Order: sequence, then structure tokens, then C-alpha cells
Amino acid sequence: DADLDVLDAATENPDEIHYLPALPVVAIVGRPNVGKSALVNRILGRREAVVEDTPGVTRDRVTYQAEWNGRRFSVVDTGGWEPDARGIDASVAAQAEVAIDLADAVMFVVDSNVGATATDEHVVRLLRKTKKPVFLVANKVDDARQEAQATELWSLGLGEPHPVSALHGRGVADLLDDVLKVLPTESAYAQREVGGPRRVAIVGRPNVGKSSLLNKAAGEERVVVNELAGTTRDPVDEQIELGGRVWRFVDTAGIRRRVHLQQGADFYASLRTSTALEKAEVAVVVLDVTQPISEQDVRIIDLVLESGRALVLAYNKWDLLDDDRRRYLEREIEQDLAHVAWAPRVNISARTGRHLEKLVPALETALESWDTRIPTGKFNAFLAELTAAHPHPVRGGKQPRILFGTQAASRPPTFVLFTTGFLDPGYRRYIQRRLREIYGFEGSPIVLNMRVRE
Ligand code: GDP
Repeated sequence: DADLDVLDAATENPDEIHYLPALPVVAIVGRPNVGKSALVNRILGRREAVVEDTPGVTRDRVTYQAEWNGRRFSVVDTGGWEPDARGIDASVAAQAEVAIDLADAVMFVVDSNVGATATDEHVVRLLRKTKKPVFLVANKVDDARQEAQATELWSLGLGEPHPVSALHGRGVADLLDDVLKVLPTESAYAQREVGGPRRVAIVGRPNVGKSSLLNKAAGEERVVVNELAGTTRDPVDEQIELGGRVWRFVDTAGIRRRVHLQQGADFYASLRTSTALEKAEVAVVVLDVTQPISEQDVRIIDLVLESGRALVLAYNKWDLLDDDRRRYLEREIEQDLAHVAWAPRVNISARTGRHLEKLVPALETALESWDTRIPTGKFNAFLAELTAAHPHPVRGGKQPRILFGTQAASRPPTFVLFTTGFLDPGYRRYIQRRLREIYGFEGSPIVLNMRVRE
């Protein structure tokens, strides 16, 4: 039964995505000068001189690989949250907030000689609310006499204080033992590291030329592994060398199987597309230039956007294009695909091989954009310039301000803006437009999230 066949192809091994498990993440948060860097150095077993925290909120989150008792994990060191020179209090803990979101456990470091201060309040509130394990670290307890001070920190409502001396090492082993007891072996929040060749999904409606494209690519270039004999774990992927590097084309069995469906074709096609996208990092949407751009084409592109994967548009059957059709095509693209004008475009012929070599640079560009990280300092300078040039319009007597922003993730680039009110959709589009004007992001979707401060 052809329908079931396609369904099988779509659901075969859906879990076999070739990710490396992400190490569990411990975020270290606290005000400047409480000894975070000393603690990080101690955890990493480094002997270098302790780097003092520089007050300021635009310091990036820095990730280190650590190991304790044979278990590996990541440590994310965050900037402190002293109010900056302009006294913008609401923005100061944003960096820590993002770090907490992405962590599996949090160490909240307090200088036991000072205790928690008013500037800690916001983060303490966040930590009380989070369901993640929080370790209250009372630092600078250099000897037993100072432990009484640490006891006072019970009042923060964050559980038992762990007295340590990051500088001398006192108590740090016990602290790490406790942290590892609750830390999962694989992160539930961190982005997975991806191993092996970059993964490409060729998608598009039936008969646009997906399998022809795949055959041309695989036939003319060296097929590194043709995984049909079940020799590898995932028989529906194929590794093909193109432009000097190996690419993993995912779910190719689904493309190669020529099944013509009448009923329910749309449903199965989109199911298969979703499965392929889930496994891929970048999608090549193949369009047939001899046909008008259809609703189904647009729907497939929307699936790519929803999946957050990088996008390349391949306009196929270029050998059949005449001048008349070409003019229509350009108009259709302007009308129906304006929302993905940022995707690299290649005009190809899978039959003749025309411009097939342009696919590789397009894939590389899209993936590079998808991987991009903008440092927090740069991003805030960008925001400052943008808001100075074009402040948000006043709404009901109020003008929402952007206090601070940071890129929380890549793949795709995901930004968090901390604001004093909801930003208009138009203004958010304006930010996205400026991001593309300044940084390009060709071939990658951009995600812009907001956090409104009470
Ligand atoms: P799929 O369903 O997307 O995999 O499409 P196929 O690769 O099976 O192609 C559908 C039909 O279009 C086949 O008859 C192909 O020979 C033809 N075709 C694919 N690419 C091209 C092209 O670039 N030029 C021309 N003229 N025909 C093509």
C-alpha cells in the first residue's frame, strides 16, 4: 500500500538524529566581586591568577568544560549585575536570567562577609521561583570561625548555604559532590552539539525535481557512503561529497521512493517534510519554475520557518524557462515569497546540471548565518543605535523602552530583549530588518523574544 509505504519512510527511525548529547550546564551567578571567577577557576582546577569581575552588564556568558569525579559538565560564568553607570536597575540581571533559563542547575554566589544586598533581590526572586536546583554558595568562608556568617544566609529562602572558600578550596569538593548528585547526565536545556557532516533536507512538493537533484548531486560527485544495505544506523540518509566536503542528505529514501499518491498526498508529504526537517540543519526547498508558485510551496516554506532551520531556495527546471514565464515567476516570487527574501536563491537545472555548483556556497552561507553569535556588547550597541535613530512610538502615553538585549542561542539566532512594555509588531519587524541590514543573516530565520519587566 503506497500510502503506508510513505508513512513508514517518514516515521522510520525518527529518533536517530545524530546529535552528541549536550553536557549538563551549571550556571554561576552573583554580583561582581563575590568570587565567581575564583570559584570557576577552582572548579576547573586552574591555577591561573583569579580574574576579577569587571562591573557591567554587557559581559558575555562564558562557557567552560569541567570535570569532577569523572563526570563532565559545562560551567557558565555570567557577568555580575551591579547597576550600570546610568543606574538602569531593571536591566542589570538580564544576563543572569538568560543563563538560569539555559542551565540545569544554578550556583548563586554570595560573599558571606557582605551577605545578599538589595541588588541581588531580583535574582533571588527568580531563583526562588525556578524549579531548577539552586545552590546557595556562601563564599569567602576561609575558616571555621566564619561559618556562622554563612548560616545567616538561610534567610534568603534558597535553602541551605554551602560555605566555601573559592580562593583556598575549602568546601568546594563537598559543594560539587552535592551539585553532581542532582545534575542530569545530559542537559535538558542546553543546545546540543552537533557532530559529523552538516545535515541537509531536500524538500518540496511532488515532481519539482527533488530526486533528480539528489541523483545529479550523488551521480556526478563521489558518493562517499551509499547507505542502502543497512550497514549504518540510519539507512535513509546519504552522505555525498559536494564542493570538497561531505554533506549528509537526510531522509533520502523518502525522496527516492517514487510514489504517486492521490488521496492524502498533502498530508503525507508534509509529514515527511517535517520528519526530514527535524533531522536537518538546513533545508533546500525545491521549486518548479515551470509551474506557478502554489499554496503547497508556501506551506512547505512555512514548515521550514517553523522548524527554525536554515533555508535555501532552489528554482529548478531552469532549462525549461522562457522569457514570458520568467517575468511571471519574478512577480510571483515578489508577491508570495517576500517573507523569505533573505534566503539564498539558486537557479538550477537538475536535468542539465546547470548551476548545481552554486548550491554549496548557498548552503554554507545559510549555515554560517544559522550558527552566528553576536556578542552581547555588540548587540546592545546595535540596540542603542537603533533606538536612538528610531525610538518606539508612544502608545497610550507610554513608550516601551528596550533595557537590554542578549543572544540567548544560535541555530537559529535567538535574541531576548528586556523591555519596559510590549513592543509593537511593526517595531519588532523593524528590529529584525535592521539586524539583517547590519549582520546579514542570509539564509537563517531570526527569533526575537521579549521579556517585559514589571
Ligand atoms: P520529485 O518528485 O520532486 O522527486 O521530482 P523528480 O525528480 O522525480 O522530477 C519530476 C519530473 O521532472 C521528472 O520527469 C524529471 O525528469 C523532471 N525534472 C526534474 N528536474 C528537471 C530539470 O531541471 N529540467 C527538466 N527539464 N526536467 C526536470
